[in-house]
Amino acid sequence: DDYLTKPYNAMELRSRIGAGERVVRLHEQLETANAALKRLVQTDFLTQVYNRSAIVHRIEEELSRTARTKAPLAVYLLDIDHFKQVNDNFGHAAGDQVLIEVARRLKEQCRNYDVTGRYGGEEFLILLPDTPLEGAVVLAEKLRHEVELVSVPGVDRAITASFGVASFPADTPDGDMLVRMADRALYAAKALGRN
Ligand code: GH3
Ligand code: MG
Ligand code: MG
Repeated sequence: DDYLTKPYNAMELRSRIGAGERVVRLHEQLETANAALKRLVQTDFLTQVYNRSAIVHRIEEELSRTARTKAPLAVYLLDIDHFKQVNDNFGHAAGDQVLIEVARRLKEQCRNYDVTGRYGGEEFLILLPDTPLEGAVVLAEKLRHEVELVSVPGVDRAITASFGVASFPADTPDGDMLVRMADRALYAAKALGRN
């Protein structure tokens, strides 16, 4: 970024190095701030998982990776059962704690490269790279059990969720369509008795 011609003046050299150091330091601070902002913009404030726009964006990213690698991708849409009753009976703040606890458990059970996001109020979307449909169904069952373990002080009621699963290549390579198919499966799970 800068240079001196010989013979150089020691004081001038030192001052230019000082200016250079300041630029590097400011650049590092900017990068840290940008990374923090990026995380903030992608994160759901309540549950600290990806928010809706971030998770939807990730579907497209994963699908384009999938197109290259031919690895399968599974998508879950899950919705907490009768959540309105949780709010109505135990209060909105307790409902919030249930959402936090569900998100925490979902994330904990998933692998590092799985991606969990809050798709709507009490709906979560999970992406499972490299997971064929059969494996995804097995893990969905494990997560369903995990949600049953959710326990929040003051909420005297079992928490359950219903799951819809869709996958590429079993179903479709279209991201929107994949979510819609998972949603349709979720709707069927609700109709068949929830949980
Ligand atoms: P179903 O089993 O059919 O899914 O019934 P449900 O009661 O879960 O579904 P419904 O769509 O009727 O109600 C969802 C409720 O989720 C209503 C809404 O007030 C609540 N909700 C959405 N976002 C939040 C939130 O951030 N915090 C809390 N406490 N409640 C929320
Ligand atoms: Mg819902
Ligand atoms: Mg619900």
